[in-house]
Amino acid sequence: MTGAMKTPDVLIVGAGMAGLTLGCALACAQSQSGGREPGEAVSGQQSSGLNIMVIDPHIPVQPSQWPDSFDPRVSALTHASANILHRLGVWDAMTQHRVAAFTHMDVWDGDGTGNIQFNADQAGVEQLGHLVENRVTTHCLFEKMRTLRNVEFIQTGLARIVEAYEPTESRGKVRADNETNGGWRVTLANGDVVQPRLLIGADGANSRVRDQLGFRCRTWAYGQSAIVTTVTSEKPHSDTARQVFLETGPLAFLPLRESTHTKNSCISSIVWSLDTEQAQRIMKLDDATFRQQLARAFEGRLGNIIAADKRFCFPLTQNHAVDYVVPGVALIGDAAHTIHPLAGQGINLGFLDAAVLAEEILQAYHNGLPIEDFSVLRKYQRRRKPHNLLLMSAMEGFKRLFGVDVPPLRIARNLGMSFFNRHTLVKHEIMQRAMGLEGDLPALARPGLIADF
Ligand SMILES: Cc1cc2nc3c(=O)[nH]c(=O)nc-3n(C[C@H](O)[C@H](O)[C@H](O)COP(=O)(O)OP(=O)(O)OC[C@H]3O[C@@H](n4cnc5c(N)ncnc54)[C@H](O)[C@@H]3O)c2cc1C
Repeated sequence: MTGAMKTPDVLIVGAGMAGLTLGCALACAQSQSGGREPGEAVSGQQSSGLNIMVIDPHIPVQPSQWPDSFDPRVSALTHASANILHRLGVWDAMTQHRVAAFTHMDVWDGDGTGNIQFNADQAGVEQLGHLVENRVTTHCLFEKMRTLRNVEFIQTGLARIVEAYEPTESRGKVRADNETNGGWRVTLANGDVVQPRLLIGADGANSRVRDQLGFRCRTWAYGQSAIVTTVTSEKPHSDTARQVFLETGPLAFLPLRESTHTKNSCISSIVWSLDTEQAQRIMKLDDATFRQQLARAFEGRLGNIIAADKRFCFPLTQNHAVDYVVPGVALIGDAAHTIHPLAGQGINLGFLDAAVLAEEILQAYHNGLPIEDFSVLRKYQRRRKPHNLLLMSAMEGFKRLFGVDVPPLRIARNLGMSFFNRHTLVKHEIMQRAMGLEGDLPALARPGLIADF
């Protein structure tokens, strides 16, 4: 049976962190000057006037059903991301759960010849960033979205997309030259048919929106996988995020806390990137041997590993859509790009995509332009693609640089690291970028809130 035709202004496919952020940002009023004032959080009562529909077959699990253990998926959020979440009125709810600020970063080479340290004092901030379990961010964004009257959430998936006025011949073809887009008709898995003015693919790394519409992608398979788990070390982590570049790949220890205010915590989330074969071998180790090998790989920097939760293994690929937009459609977050976790930047890029796209759509709306005008989406792509591409290329460079075992290159890279470590100005520049405080920031992400956290 065919369901009713719905016509929201924007249909967002995927209620992960990127899709929910876009939904919340689009639903709330923004000033015509391009955004809220720094420090001004949005209120659920100030509707932007746009009608938003969000679909996802999954809804976030409620905190009452969370196991005591930490979510194996943890993200290091930049200041820019925290600013966005704060201005959307979500950050305070997140801090009721477990949000761990980190004040230091320590990065070194497994050879022991190169290292670089960062600290919040040098950067003139209270912390370098926050580590947050993904389930906390997703749950709080989802709850915020539920309070917004102009957002309809439907728990269902995407079945198919056809052009609204030429459904039979053009299915699956993307015509980027067609700037007078006639719109897209989307059939949901529950049988509903939706004809939005704009369709957004926020459906993650295996995006069906992207694949059904034939967006071209550049993909690098690393042949690597990341082992992720939560561990307790003998020594406290002192709120320091640590990463060692081993010949086999980077190993990160990201500091967590039992509660937002716990001191001297010994709990860390680890991300251990290895060739897939090695990762599979390590996944099979018994608990005691795993803990020993992990402590050894980490050079005993936090002493022995005295407990480890269940391990999860994620294949690593870097994927980048050649275009993020075609008439009537935009991709955001992992649907547009996936990046090696060594930089801890994946969802930080996704938050910025969502905030920039919302800013462009709302600006057009307030200026009386049709939001489906292709120029709106093109501006989004112009602002986000070079930034994402630059970061992805840098990460690819890092990955290759640290993957080589050619002595002259190894010496050069390690000298380089130590050189950066001694040069305050260069370090300051790197830190500003790593915290997401430089570049073309949307109003939602701009500095001005750091003292509030
Ligand atoms: C090991 C590892 C460590 C990482 N660490 C960090 C870090 O420290 N910092 C950081 O910034 N990033 C990190 N990342 C990356 C980060 O996790 C991702 O970038 C982020 O989760 C992507 O969010 P998203 O909302 O774009 O996509 P997703 O989280 O994948 O959400 C997509 C949503 O779409 C829904 N969906 C899928 N298909 C459909 C469909 N057909 N119809 C409707 N809905 C659909 C899904 O149910 C899901 O809810 C890490 C990644 C890995 C693998």
